[in-house]
Amino acid sequence: MEDTYRHKGLRKQLVDGLRQKGIRDEAILGAIGKIPRHCFLDRAFEEWAYQDVPFPIGAEQTISQPYTVAFQTWLLEVKKGDKVMEIGTGSGYQACVLAEMGAKVYTIERQESLFQKTNKLLEQLGYQRIRTFLGDGSLGLPRFAPYDGILVTAGAPEIPKPLLNQLKVGGRLVIPVGRADFQEMLVVHKRSAHKFETERFGHFRFVPFLGGVEKKRKKD
Ligand code: SAM
Repeated sequence: MEDTYRHKGLRKQLVDGLRQKGIRDEAILGAIGKIPRHCFLDRAFEEWAYQDVPFPIGAEQTISQPYTVAFQTWLLEVKKGDKVMEIGTGSGYQACVLAEMGAKVYTIERQESLFQKTNKLLEQLGYQRIRTFLGDGSLGLPRFAPYDGILVTAGAPEIPKPLLNQLKVGGRLVIPVGRADFQEMLVVHKRSAHKFETERFGHFRFVPFLGGVEKKRKKD
């Protein structure tokens, strides 16, 4: 997959734009500056890859807006070596940002068609260290718990209890919670086994968090 000087130039402009919008964490900006976002979109839509907008990736899903990716990553306070679980792999872009920041990434997707497509892409781009799972993210991945951070990239009607249980004490869950078309970004801090504190960070619009696994159809 080609990553030309033109792509690199557009990426730099995207990073500069995010800096102007208030993202100051150099590790996050460095990751966004490095990852070829155009590879996560269909070739026909390459022009959109470095604009600060969400974009359709098929299966009625979207790759999140770069600002939202940067903001959620900042809220997660990722440190090198952290064990992070992401719910909603989608295109795999957010998982790559976390991996570039030195996190050990476990990511779950409920749609089989996306899961397979993204697995291939991550391998092509050399992100084999990211562990991908097909499943219902509301159950988390108890096998690998506890996690330093959990990041949900779909709008949930409420906080799934298993995710709180799978957090480390001292860890945080970043999750947009609310109606199907409008959610509030929450950061839930786990202070002790049964004590949680919640902070609120404004409103966002994510695709809905749905239960169960959606099997691949023949035409996908
Ligand atoms: N993080 C993604 C990226 O970087 O491209 C963007 C994710 S997209 C906004 C939300 C994704 O969450 C969709 O791919 C959707 O299928 C998935 N999803 C929704 N509910 C889920 C669930 N319960 N478990 C796992 N994935 C889920």
